[in-house]
Amino acid sequence: MKEDLNPFVISQLQFDRAADHLKLDAGLRNVLRRPKRSLIVSIPVRMDDGSVHVFEGYRVQHNIARGPAKGGIRYHPNVSLDEVKALAAWMAWKTAVVNIPFGGGKGGVICDTRKMSRSELERMTRRFFFEILPIIGPDRDIPAPDMYTNAQTMAWMMDTYSMTVGYSSLGVVTGKPVSLGGSEGRNEATARGCLFTIQEACRVKRMPLKGAKVAIQGFGNAGSIAARLLHQVGAKIIAVSDTRGGVVNPRGLDPIKAIRHKERSGSVVGLPGTSRIRNEELLELKCEILVPAALENVITAQNAANIKARIIAEAANGPVTPMADEILTRKGVFLLPDILANAGGVTVSYFEWVQDLQSFFWEEHEVNAKLEKVMKRAFREVHETSLKYRVHMRTAASILAIGRVADATIVRGLFP
Ligand code: GLU
Repeated sequence: MKEDLNPFVISQLQFDRAADHLKLDAGLRNVLRRPKRSLIVSIPVRMDDGSVHVFEGYRVQHNIARGPAKGGIRYHPNVSLDEVKALAAWMAWKTAVVNIPFGGGKGGVICDTRKMSRSELERMTRRFFFEILPIIGPDRDIPAPDMYTNAQTMAWMMDTYSMTVGYSSLGVVTGKPVSLGGSEGRNEATARGCLFTIQEACRVKRMPLKGAKVAIQGFGNAGSIAARLLHQVGAKIIAVSDTRGGVVNPRGLDPIKAIRHKERSGSVVGLPGTSRIRNEELLELKCEILVPAALENVITAQNAANIKARIIAEAANGPVTPMADEILTRKGVFLLPDILANAGGVTVSYFEWVQDLQSFFWEEHEVNAKLEKVMKRAFREVHETSLKYRVHMRTAASILAIGRVADATIVRGLFP
């Protein structure tokens, strides 16, 4: 049977599985399985050569029953409305898994940032943010970085919003530079949260993390910092990769050197002391822990049977398909699902938003300690749910999250 790889179809399939376990009634299901609001905008931008290019962008709010919409904005050539709809739904479940008072949203622009100048990027960012402004605000919808957006992008968005409303609004986006109301620890938060869940998984599986072989696919914010943090606690990083390919050394490699090499050359490929492998090969390496930290649908029915890792930690959103989930479960692989494993990013985004609203800022050790508490509690609750319902960790996380959103929706009642 051929697998449907449309991310929104996949997110609804995952939803339906959890909704069945929760025995949600048909009306509530129909409310929760589709986005509350989807906005499509055209973004005319004057390019450096004087021509005008019109980009297409999206902002989707899946659900706001538990608080304002929250989620990143992605710049990528393969962005589509269905992808953003899936990512928005996953954000709604993610904020509920870690139990922070947000709904879920996501945005994206179809573009290739590697082919754009800094000033073209700034103009596109500002015009995009202006176009989605009617549904954005610190108490409506709070964007953040995602693939190929960063603290600088967030600073331009914050400025665009602030210039429009006439005062400086720090809480309108998170993941900002620390000099502009950003939070200490936010840049590392996705990877640090992922590390906490891996530590908990190792405890449950009675597997030492020290000396464990780790392969990481993707070397952006999540992947590169996860490599560094895992190395720090004694795990052995044997392979890393980016869009240009991967590198492997079964005796271990130094992630700091890989980061420097990528800064200098644009890729981890060519790192001294390693041999080159393809991204697909990296996933099938013999290792204890596999961290997909790039795009969706990298582990599918096609390659799931070849995975050798015992723990998979989804630093990316949607890297494993539903058919692959079943194959991995049968193989006894312990999977830390995206809405748990990468929820550290949005958790510290929540801390950033709280600090911005109070104009009172915390030290990094306070941020990290609070993050650890949230991640460990979320892991425990998901794990308990998986034992109670006899389901794998993804369905358990969905049951926990969708149950929380459903409760909020029921007590609020249907308007009008
Ligand atoms: N883009 C990140 C995610 O997928 C972070 C979202 C946020 O901080 O709001 O979770």
